[in-house]
Amino acid sequence: MYNQHPNEFIAFLQENNITEGYFIQENGDLKASHAALDNLSKEIATWADFHQHEGIFFEVDEESTSLFTVFVYNTVRGQAAGGVRFKSYPTVTALFEDGLRLAKGMADKNAVARLWWGGGKGIIYRDNIRDLATDLRKGIFQRYGSFIAKLNGVYVTAEDMNVKPEDVAEVYTHCRYTTCIPIAYGGSSNPSTFTAKGVFSGIKAAAEFRYGKDEPLKGKTALLQGAGNVGYHVLEQLVEAGAKVFVFDLNEKTIEGLKRDFSTDQVEVITDLDAFWKTEAHIFSPNAIGAILNDETIADLKVDIIAGGANNQLLDPDKHSQALHEKDISYLPDFFINRLGIINCANEQYGYVRSDIEKEVELVYTDSLDLLQRAKEQDCSPQIIAAQIAEERMKIPHPIWGHRGPLLVKEAIKTFGVQEVVG
Ligand code: NAD
Repeated sequence: MYNQHPNEFIAFLQENNITEGYFIQENGDLKASHAALDNLSKEIATWADFHQHEGIFFEVDEESTSLFTVFVYNTVRGQAAGGVRFKSYPTVTALFEDGLRLAKGMADKNAVARLWWGGGKGIIYRDNIRDLATDLRKGIFQRYGSFIAKLNGVYVTAEDMNVKPEDVAEVYTHCRYTTCIPIAYGGSSNPSTFTAKGVFSGIKAAAEFRYGKDEPLKGKTALLQGAGNVGYHVLEQLVEAGAKVFVFDLNEKTIEGLKRDFSTDQVEVITDLDAFWKTEAHIFSPNAIGAILNDETIADLKVDIIAGGANNQLLDPDKHSQALHEKDISYLPDFFINRLGIINCANEQYGYVRSDIEKEVELVYTDSLDLLQRAKEQDCSPQIIAAQIAEERMKIPHPIWGHRGPLLVKEAIKTFGVQEVVG
């Protein structure tokens, strides 16, 4: 079942009359909603990425042959918050592992950001997500809204990969548990500019830490992977601070835009990926995909600083953060510096005050300087200290509601996925 294509898994669920279900922690065990899912439940509990998640929830969307999922890592600090991504995967394992890893990453990020939120993540799986008819796309996000409404508030969604503010608006028509809703609906909309400001605060702090306070980025060089919503704005700030940026991006339109917007003294596009990794520079800023810091890239990279917006950059957090430390590279973990995205939308139900968010940008800078200093004193990777900070803060219960997530789940599953067919 685990290495099956997700469409085969959807067919398996349909054959067993399972339209919705869950895996939840109960007395130290991971309990499946249906006997037919017991084997999968046992398997998930052995995965390194499982990390004692509080629960995983799913629903088959028959109309679009999609699988709606929610991964709830931890709700001690509050509702499990994290965006929903719209994506295809080759196997059930790849889908579930991505969800588990991303939910844990959100819990770390929300705790580091001092938000009164736990961590979770949503994934809408569909084999083909490109060029969907407008009504089909709208329907998918509306029904995803209905699905998370059934979870009784244990999960609060937001925008993530391949999801636009208009999609979030569709979720909102069916469910209150979403953020990043359009400004016209009283929300904060697309957070990318602020995410990029936070990432740049981290880069600035690391540059000061390595090169001193006086214009530390002037005359420096940076490699930047991915010049999309976040990467483009990081690049703009690097150029403004006097750095030259070497960019690798797969999208031709993005490349054309960069060539139009910047001179070759400011921005140079590299088209050969091998050459990109081997280009010597002061900084590497990953702003495209995860798992980009691995055995191969770390062996090639010749930089002093790594700081970027992409989630889950380290393929193996322990091994690869240590490898960066051994190469004397100052690494700022993604969940530590890309947090402005979630901060920007976190409290939008209380109204939106731009200066609150600007203060948080500054806090990434001071927190990053502090993190780098502590790592230096302890002669370890900043990743280790950042993970400790997240773990400590994640133990502090919500000041008003306490650890309420399991109670919300208990209520939710009374009416959820109970149509069991054994055998
Ligand atoms: P985006 O889709 O707007 O931009 C991604 C860019 O990367 C695109 O230009 C794309 O062409 C390029 N790209 C994709 N694969 C690539 C590859 N293999 N090599 C080089 N370039 C590649 O996405 P975004 O909103 O800018 O987010 C970028 C990263 O930051 C993602 O990992 C996302 O999860 C993370 N992130 C984003 C936010 C936010 O506010 N948008 C917040 C936190 C984290």
